[in-house]
Amino acid sequence: MIRTFLDKIYQIELPIPFPLKTTNVYLIDESPRTLVDAGIKTDASFETITKSLDDLGFSISSIERILVTHGHIDHYGQAQKISSLSGAPIYIHPKEYGRIRSIIHSFGSLKSILLRNGVPETLVNQAIHFMESAQKMTDPLHEAFFLEDGEPISFASMTWRTIHCPGHSPGLICFYWPEKKALFTGDHLLKEITPNPVLYVPDNNAPLRYPGLGEYLSSLKKIDRLDVDLLLPGHGEEVYDSKGLIQKITRHHQERMDYVYSFLSQREKTPYEIAMDLFPGVPPFEIFLGVSEAVGHLEILKEEGKVRVEERQGKDYYSLVA
Ligand SMILES: [Zn+2]
Ligand SMILES: [Zn+2]
Repeated sequence: MIRTFLDKIYQIELPIPFPLKTTNVYLIDESPRTLVDAGIKTDASFETITKSLDDLGFSISSIERILVTHGHIDHYGQAQKISSLSGAPIYIHPKEYGRIRSIIHSFGSLKSILLRNGVPETLVNQAIHFMESAQKMTDPLHEAFFLEDGEPISFASMTWRTIHCPGHSPGLICFYWPEKKALFTGDHLLKEITPNPVLYVPDNNAPLRYPGLGEYLSSLKKIDRLDVDLLLPGHGEEVYDSKGLIQKITRHHQERMDYVYSFLSQREKTPYEIAMDLFPGVPPFEIFLGVSEAVGHLEILKEEGKVRVEERQGKDYYSLVA
């Protein structure tokens, strides 16, 4: 389906083989003709974007620039393919570029992080296998230009601003069009789903930390300070009440935090046990997301001095500070 916003923005829904079903990409009909996100690399996704552009009177080869919100395969997977066909340069935050370049090598570290968080080994292996095979639905990026926080993005008749919003992913960037008070949010803000701050795999030898949820909540405040009338997300429908959505998500995380805290009053728990309680029956490939969320709350509680962590036999156990 194609929808139009503010005369020159076309929202194109591309299929993805995951529960969310579709990813939004946006074509900006302005010089240079720009694509915001590129979708996953599957035949169905490529056919849909080709046909949609055709229906609009454009073509893949007419794309002149690709902006990538973050390095998850449903957003950047097909960027390199479209860039190769059109010659359009790719723009992305340097942290996401680095993550994409090292993703294959990071699966080993991810495996040890999941084990340490208490996930049983058979499930860890299934989750890693799923993530490895998902790499087929993407091409690595060859060359990219970097966009840091605050950097302008120029068009013939307007200038957007890059807003770095770490949390869901360390280098997620939103694109802000101040004159129209419009914001492309990637997965930072979605209408029906609470975006998940995903576990960061540290760069070589950096100490293991879980800043995702804390950074995510700060990034929500950053968007709350902007003057925004229209959110154009990476999945699902547009949102007009940005402040209301931010309040809802903040409240949701606060409630989860309280729940996690009360859950620990029974006895000490691993992040995996907490994830299983928050999301019972999740399939193996979503365990990673569940554990990311659990550990995010635990780490904030730890920083607030309410919870402590102790490592025993390679696993982290969290308990209440008496
Ligand atoms: Zn994402
Ligand atoms: Zn996504």
